[in-house]
Amino acid sequence: MRKTIVAGNWKMNKTPSETVALVNELKPLVASETSDVVFCVPAICIPAAIEAAKGSNINIGAENMYYEESGAYTGEIAPNMLTDLGVKYVIIGHSERREYFAETDETVNKKVLKAFEHGITPIVCCGETLAQREQGVTIDFVRQQIKIAFQGVTADQAKTAVIAYEPIWAIGTGKVATTEQAQEVCKAIRECIAEVYDQATADAIRIQYGGSVSAASAPELFAQDDIDGGLVGGASLKPDFGKIVNYK
Ligand code: PGA
Repeated sequence: MRKTIVAGNWKMNKTPSETVALVNELKPLVASETSDVVFCVPAICIPAAIEAAKGSNINIGAENMYYEESGAYTGEIAPNMLTDLGVKYVIIGHSERREYFAETDETVNKKVLKAFEHGITPIVCCGETLAQREQGVTIDFVRQQIKIAFQGVTADQAKTAVIAYEPIWAIGTGKVATTEQAQEVCKAIRECIAEVYDQATADAIRIQYGGSVSAASAPELFAQDDIDGGLVGGASLKPDFGKIVNYK
C-alpha cells in the first residue's frame, strides 16, 4: 500500500549545465508508474534541474537547508528559497552533513520541523557506524536518532515523511548491507514510529535503505516488507538509476 520512493543524492557533483544534460539523459529511463522519483541536487543546480525536469515524473529535492527563515546566516539556504523554486523534498541529516558540517540530532530535528512548516517533505537520514554495528548497538542508536529527529512532529506530518536508513559503513564503499541487515533495521524503525505515534502512522511512513544501492542489489532490498525504496548516491548519476527506479 506504500508507494516506493527512489531518491538520488547527487552530493557535490555536477555543474548547472551538467545537471541539464544528466536530467535529460535520465528522464526517459526513470519514467515510472510504481515509484515516486526524486533527484536531490546541489542547491545551485536546483533551478536548472527543475526546468529540465518539467513535464516528467521527476521531483527535484535539495540536499540540505537551514532551520531559520532568513537573516544573518552567511552561505545558508532558507526553506522559502526552496519552495519558491518548486522544491518538494529535502534530505535532512545525511551522515556526511553530520560528520563534516557538525549537524547533530538537535539541528536535524529543527530542520525537520522547519521543512514540515514549509510543506517540504523531509528525507530524514539515520544510520550507525561500523564500530556501533560491531558493538551491537545499531538498533538502540538508530531509534534514538529517529526519536530526536521527530520530536514535536505531529502524526499527520510523520505519515508523509521519508526516513532513509543508511549504515555509514555502506555509504560510497561498495559494501551494501545484506538484505536481512537492512530489513531488520528498517523494521525496527517502523516499530519505533509505532511506539512514538501509532500503527497507522508506522504503516504510512516510507522507509528507504541507502548505502551502495545498485541495479543488482535494489530488487531484493526494495522487495522487503519494511523497505519502501532507496536513497542512492553514486548510482544516481548513471543510467543505472533508471534500472533502480524500475527494479521490479
Ligand atoms: P552511495 O551513497 O549510494 O554512493 O553509497 C548513498 C548516500 O550517501 O545517500
